[in-house]
Amino acid sequence: MSKDHFVIIGNGPAGNQAALTLKEKAPEAAVTLISKERETCYRPHLLPDLIAGKMQEEGLYVCPIGSYKERGIKLRTGQRVVGLNLTQREVILDHKEIVRFTGLIIAVGGRPRIPEPLLVFREHMFTLKTLDDVKLWTARLSRANNILMMGGDLTSFAVTKALLSLGKKVFFMLNEDAFWPVRSNEALFNEVSGKLAGRGVEVLPKGRLKSIARLSDDAYEVLVDGHRIQAGMIGAFFGLVPDVQFLTGSGLRIDRGILVDEYLHTGYEGVCATGDCAQIFHRSIRDYWTSIGHDNAVSLGRTAALNLVGGKVEAAVAKESIFEVQGIKVNTSWWTEF
Ligand SMILES: Cc1cc2nc3c(=O)[nH]c(=O)nc-3n(C[C@H](O)[C@H](O)[C@H](O)COP(=O)(O)OP(=O)(O)OC[C@H]3O[C@@H](n4cnc5c(N)ncnc54)[C@H](O)[C@@H]3O)c2cc1C
Repeated sequence: MSKDHFVIIGNGPAGNQAALTLKEKAPEAAVTLISKERETCYRPHLLPDLIAGKMQEEGLYVCPIGSYKERGIKLRTGQRVVGLNLTQREVILDHKEIVRFTGLIIAVGGRPRIPEPLLVFREHMFTLKTLDDVKLWTARLSRANNILMMGGDLTSFAVTKALLSLGKKVFFMLNEDAFWPVRSNEALFNEVSGKLAGRGVEVLPKGRLKSIARLSDDAYEVLVDGHRIQAGMIGAFFGLVPDVQFLTGSGLRIDRGILVDEYLHTGYEGVCATGDCAQIFHRSIRDYWTSIGHDNAVSLGRTAALNLVGGKVEAAVAKESIFEVQGIKVNTSWWTEF
């Protein structure tokens, strides 16, 4: 009998933990970890510190690239998965190579969300999800002194702190999505506005973005309901959404993320989804919840791997810690302070 070949798509905190757990529980199996990024697994929550120059890139990595080989895990970096053939049990890479699997864990995480009405301004907005994004931020910050931050998800506060530490002038446009995934309300809005202002941030009155005009390569004029500001850079922080469009048509059930049962199974034999890209059934609320946050991702990565090798471990979350934000049930292990 040929040995198992487990494939994991995505080397973020969830995928990385899944690969380590598979090797621990099924040492004889072949384990392949595929990531579209060139780097090995890193901690995304430290990206703002890298922008601030408070740490070196090396400090971001979870483990040295060579350690995968030592553990018997085949790491394939810089390789994007573009499709799945679940009946043939195949993963299709963008260079047309096909990788066959006996078991699959999908851990592709999220991508920055831009609300529909703002999509027309997308080309002017900087988001922050990857190490490549940090390089774009750093290059632009070397020329920009005034930064407009839009949105207000939890990452935005860490980035604002980084910008202030670099001596930048920060304007903040908090909108109705502010504090995603924490539920927004007037009291929280006022408290955060006050804290930002106390740090020297200019918080714009609530209003709608009317236009962004590019004055030169390094300057924009932004019109917000009667306010006109000039900024050298615009940051957009509206949370993350599961990065699963490439799986449309694969046969997987997809709503916001990939729908899985409480054991993280997709319904296809030996195919699990985990981390930020999964939407997980909860038996007692009889509904699906989405996970956000580093610690959840690590724990869910382990759970998916345990279940792929025959375990029956429920994705751990207390009913009380699931709350609803804009119609989406969320559980977060996120932490932040400002
Ligand atoms: C700037 C920033 C700050 C954050 N701060 C905090 C914080 O303070 N606290 C906290 O708890 N959480 C924080 N988070 C969130 C936390 O990092 C995520 O919840 C966690 O990384 C999710 O892990 P994941 O493995 O599910 O997905 P991800 O980390 O998104 O990893 C998914 C991986 O899959 C790869 N991938 C995607 N599509 C493909 C494809 N088609 N083919 C191959 N590979 C693919 C991606 O390149 C990526 O490496 C932060 C995130 C960011 C971006």
